Amino acid sequence: MDNVLVVGAGMAGLQTVVGLRDQGYIGRITLLGAEPHKPYDRPPLSKEVLGGKTDDTSFEADWDALGVELLLGRTATALRLRDGAEGGEVDTDAGTLAFDRLVVATGSRVVNLPGAAEVPGVHVLRTIDDARTLRAALVPGAHVVVVGAGWIGAEVATAAAAAGCRTTVVEALPAPLAGAFPEDIGSRFVPWYAEAGVELLLGARVDRLEPGAVHLADGTRLPADAVVVGIGVRPDTAWLQGSGIELDERGAIVVDDRLRTSAPGVYAVGDCTVFTSARYGARLHVEHWDNALQAPRTAAANVAGGDAVYDPVPYFWSDQFGRMIQYVGHHPAGDELVVRGPGEDGKWTAGWFKGDALVALLTVARPRDLAQGRKLVQAGSPVDKAKFADIGTPLKDA
Ligand code: FAD
Repeated sequence: MDNVLVVGAGMAGLQTVVGLRDQGYIGRITLLGAEPHKPYDRPPLSKEVLGGKTDDTSFEADWDALGVELLLGRTATALRLRDGAEGGEVDTDAGTLAFDRLVVATGSRVVNLPGAAEVPGVHVLRTIDDARTLRAALVPGAHVVVVGAGWIGAEVATAAAAAGCRTTVVEALPAPLAGAFPEDIGSRFVPWYAEAGVELLLGARVDRLEPGAVHLADGTRLPADAVVVGIGVRPDTAWLQGSGIELDERGAIVVDDRLRTSAPGVYAVGDCTVFTSARYGARLHVEHWDNALQAPRTAAANVAGGDAVYDPVPYFWSDQFGRMIQYVGHHPAGDELVVRGPGEDGKWTAGWFKGDALVALLTVARPRDLAQGRKLVQAGSPVDKAKFADIGTPLKDA
């Protein structure tokens, strides 16, 4: 085995290359990326880039030392596997690449509203090019309509309000972040919008978009110099249809606890996967940065001949309206929600319990709770719920 192909040059793709060299693998590595840019970081796109603090989020990497053949602006279009054996070929829009072992790291693609891509002034936010284009539209006084009060919508609304835009967020569900949290948690984020001068329309559905306006199903017409659609992502795996690689109903690549796909010698990492977690007894689909950082280390070890298991406690964060939200764990595994706070400063923490074990933690501008609570979640040891609920008791003593 001396020819590894990594498809997808984002965080997970780059970390796979780094991991392979860290493992001492000295064979050939090719890193294929559809975007014309070297791998770069996405979380700052909706924060520092939209905020005008930076224009470049490239990862620092010693490309010479990595000794990787970097093929950018080139898209994988199909995969052909050898029958029952490792190895195969990937077709691209500029020729075919052979491999002994393959790592797929093609991430997510954004979901847009039907027909929206053809309407002038409608944006999505996934790439550095998207971020630069959107930033140019965030000018003082502009009417900006954000569709979706999820992670991306909330961060874009934060940036738009800070830029002096007249910002409206349209959300079909009854609370922000409703895809991630129950309504009684999501509703705690509602006042942040008004405090920032952002109008939040809950239970509101977009009927259609036209240049300069968004029409809602209830007949409301919202003027819109810019519209940002933030309604979710899907695994970017259409090119694998028909290849024999197992995909789930969302199109995510099914991998086992060693990040192996259904085909020998083919691994997958990052946003494009659904992995088996022994810890939670479930298949997890984690579309967050930490998963794209950690999984490649396990995959690289296994590609290089090891037998490493991936079973993380998921972690992610978001910066919204001046607060840092952090989350660790997996709360569908929990059966009881206990909220700690808010304290006089308005900051709070929520914990999900299974029996006496803390299985997930959400902190709002409480980094110490996150640091101490993360250890409790990882350990799975009993936690006193009354002490947990008392915001004056450090979590390490709960
Ligand atoms: P990606 O970053 O999507 O990279 C995949 C790469 O593969 C892309 O460059 C794509 O062009 C390429 N590709 C796709 N198909 C092909 C193909 N057929 N051939 C060749 N190349 C292909 N997470 C957090 O935890 N906290 C945050 O605050 C946070 N903020 C975010 C803000 C924004 C604006 C965005 C977009 C994401 C944010 N995330 C955040 C999520 C995080 O960035 C992702 O989880 C992470 O980027 C996933 O990395 P990945 O390498 O798996 O996929």
